[in-house]
Amino acid sequence: MLWDYQQPVAIRFGNGRVREIKDVAASMGLTEGGLLVSEHLFAQNGTAEKIVKDSEGAISEIFSDFSPNPDVTEVDKAAALIREKHLKFVVAMGGGSAMDLAKSAASIALTNDSIAEYHGTGKAMPQEHLPIIAVPTTAGTGSEVTCVSVLTNRALGKKAPIVSDGFFPSVAIIDPELTYSVPPHVTASTGMDVLSQAIEGYWSKGHQPICDACAIHAAPLVFKYLPIAVAEPNNAEARQKMCEASVIAGLAFTLPKTTSSHACSFPLTNIHGIPHGEACGLTLDWFARINKNAQHGRVQEFARAIGFEDVDAMADAIHELKVKVGLRTGLKDLNLNAEQIADLVRISRHPNLYNNPVEITDEMLQDMYEHLAATD
Ligand code: NAD
Repeated sequence: MLWDYQQPVAIRFGNGRVREIKDVAASMGLTEGGLLVSEHLFAQNGTAEKIVKDSEGAISEIFSDFSPNPDVTEVDKAAALIREKHLKFVVAMGGGSAMDLAKSAASIALTNDSIAEYHGTGKAMPQEHLPIIAVPTTAGTGSEVTCVSVLTNRALGKKAPIVSDGFFPSVAIIDPELTYSVPPHVTASTGMDVLSQAIEGYWSKGHQPICDACAIHAAPLVFKYLPIAVAEPNNAEARQKMCEASVIAGLAFTLPKTTSSHACSFPLTNIHGIPHGEACGLTLDWFARINKNAQHGRVQEFARAIGFEDVDAMADAIHELKVKVGLRTGLKDLNLNAEQIADLVRISRHPNLYNNPVEITDEMLQDMYEHLAATD
């Protein structure tokens, strides 16, 4: 087996470390021209302004004009601001949406292009980019350590990741206290994304030992701490452990890439508005059962390594976790017709599907979506 491992992001983890932004920037020689891409809540409640003030001139602009599952037009707007103000670096403080927008904007701003030219077209991103400091405010995507930027082109009805080495942030500052304000349903959904990334990173065709170890570390933390973080938003231990799981699951999937559940999440989010993590979790137990005997028993070994008797027991626990944290386990409320199910099958045929250890046929997808369409 041949494998390469590289992780270029410096990680600073712990409560209160958001206050280190200025020092981190200074250590990178960045003392002026910073753009803070800020989560809405922090732009509204004064946190973003305080970060700008505390930066003592290093950060001069705030951009928060973007939506969850950011649109290519919003990236272009952020890039235009960077060009107009001749900005030199980007601090991305928010969930995956803020970080992904910031990553693409930090690259595209050095060209006169629209990001739409690179989104889902296969055109390679330019390698030059502004330095990025990532500050996640959800325990979910792991975007702070990945080279991925997931964008949506609402005009074309397309959601897809762009991958570029230029998207790796230079530094990730993970401050669990920033996640206390995340509402319970978002906590649940983003936490399910963590579990999906760990499990899919492990069983991906591109699996490798270091990422396996990360997946085995991250997944049990989600089973244990996600219900607590949902029920008690200010529980310091649960928030800290979910942030730990999130960044380590990010490391688990970045190189192997995600698989079937992520492939299916794209149309579920794009067409039916199901939040990203909830959409991933919806099919995770189904694919666990499909993949259970793949890779000469590796998936069974994973289930045992994280404390289950076998993959079926793990799949049952995923289902129970969804129920416990209030996530959907079916699509019955959407009253899907045959044409809508056919669309889900067709659009799930995303490149990530081909990383799944078992070949997924259209019949399998049809079977799964019909089952989900009939399930509460
Ligand atoms: P998000 O960033 O879309 O945020 C979800 C909601 O929570 C938003 O309404 C946001 O305003 C709010 N929010 C975020 N932080 C908050 C806080 N601290 N307090 C209160 N509210 C807060 O959600 P996400 O799950 O973090 O990111 C999802 C996006 O990331 C999707 O587009 C997904 O496809 C993408 N993604 C990217 C990667 C990657 O490697 N780049 C990996 C997985 C997913």
